[in-house]
Amino acid sequence: MTERRVEMPHVCFIRKPGDVIRCTEKPDHEGDHFDYLSGVTDSKGRRSGVRWPRRPGETQFD
Ligand SMILES: [Zn+2]
Repeated sequence: MTERRVEMPHVCFIRKPGDVIRCTEKPDHEGDHFDYLSGVTDSKGRRSGVRWPRRPGETQFD
């Protein structure tokens, strides 16, 4: 039985500039960053999430 230990969170985790939220997409995702835990909760209890553009040279969370 093989088990892969994962030390880092399995998400991109890039922080949105000027904010405290972090990207929840997978680490090597394409396109804009997206945090599904943020945003306004609608009447059905779902959150819209917050999306923000990727910056050039941005490869790791801080
Ligand atoms: Zn991201």
